[in-house]
Amino acid sequence: MREKPKIAFYWCASCGGCEEAVVDLAEEILDVVAAADIVFWPVALDFKRHDVERMADASILATFLNGAIRTSEQEEMARLLRQKSNYLIAFGSCSHMGGIPGLANFFTRDSILRQVYLDTPTTENPNHILPGARDNDGRGQLSLPDFDDRVRSLDQVVDVDYYVPGCPPLPRIITAAVSALLNGQLPEKGSVLAPDHALCTECPRKDSKPDKIALRQFRRPQEVIADEAECLLAQGLLCMGPATRAGCEAACIQGNMPCTGCSGAPGRVRDQGAKALSAIASLIDSQDEAEIDRILATIPDPAGAFYRYSLPASLLHAKRGV
Ligand code: SF4
Ligand code: SF4
Repeated sequence: MREKPKIAFYWCASCGGCEEAVVDLAEEILDVVAAADIVFWPVALDFKRHDVERMADASILATFLNGAIRTSEQEEMARLLRQKSNYLIAFGSCSHMGGIPGLANFFTRDSILRQVYLDTPTTENPNHILPGARDNDGRGQLSLPDFDDRVRSLDQVVDVDYYVPGCPPLPRIITAAVSALLNGQLPEKGSVLAPDHALCTECPRKDSKPDKIALRQFRRPQEVIADEAECLLAQGLLCMGPATRAGCEAACIQGNMPCTGCSGAPGRVRDQGAKALSAIASLIDSQDEAEIDRILATIPDPAGAFYRYSLPASLLHAKRGV
């Protein structure tokens, strides 16, 4: 009997949502199991790192790796799974672009450790102990992975073959990716496995988007009950649709929430945050500098909004000095 292809799933700096997305395939996961052997999936199956180390190089058809890279252990696992896999697939925004954990690149490593272990109001740490890679608490030697200076996307650490976008990827995108993989119908190496055009082009509200939008104020979703038929950007809500890749069926828009940009930019755009910034800036209805500043101040966290998922993969990578 012909051996089934092997696939693996792994997580690095991840919230677990991408693992949920695989589970959300529901009965379709059975089709995956029927067509392939899942040989490594720490969240669901009891395989260990040494099981992967024992596998022959390139013996796994594909590894779907979610989460960004922040620790030495994550980097080691990314390198190991790269070595053991024919295809390494960056799965979800964190792996694709650095994602939400990548927002940590606005802060230094030391300030993060201080905030988490010393400065939060609920922290009790009278001896001001910060975790180190190797520690001895008197009862024995403790080894922890190194906490790197910055968050990196997967392709900033190892060679990546394909990207499955989204936070998390939608079931339809996942099944299309798995099916292309198992049927040998993968596109050119380096492709993002989703349509290569902006979300606005497939948004159910695209016909209500005016040719020219002129805004004197931005509004946050909690400040307004948005009209369910009209373009959200035209209503002053910061919608990243013009700078975001399609393929998600405009799931957030269908929930009357603006797109936050989790699928990254279409292929022709090098820097999603810069593209979004230029698209949004052109909508401001004023030539007066003070008035422009007042309008921009209605966006409370511009860097976080425009680079919410893409800071590590952007041209900036991080805040200066981090
Ligand atoms: Fe969680 Fe989104 Fe990152 Fe997946 S892409 S691990 S769902 S934050
Ligand atoms: Fe849809 Fe947002 Fe584009 Fe408007 S800006 S058409 S709501 S994706």
